[in-house]
Amino acid sequence: MMPTHAAATLPHSRPAPVHEHAWLAESTHNTSEGTVVYVRCAAGCGARRVDLQGPANVPASAVSKVVGR
Ligand SMILES: [Zn+2]
Repeated sequence: MMPTHAAATLPHSRPAPVHEHAWLAESTHNTSEGTVVYVRCAAGCGARRVDLQGPANVPASAVSKVVGR
């Protein structure tokens, strides 16, 4: 039998590199394409994204890749 609780003893010094980002809108800009929304992760991981919200009832879509983690 091998001890398996090594992971539980790691120091919790920084957030996990991968998690469900909690996007928080920082600013919005109305353009002819729709509303551009600049969002960042509210969890403080530093990730940012730019969303484009269409003029109609189109769900927001990410127009940029996630920057940072
Ligand atoms: Zn995040």
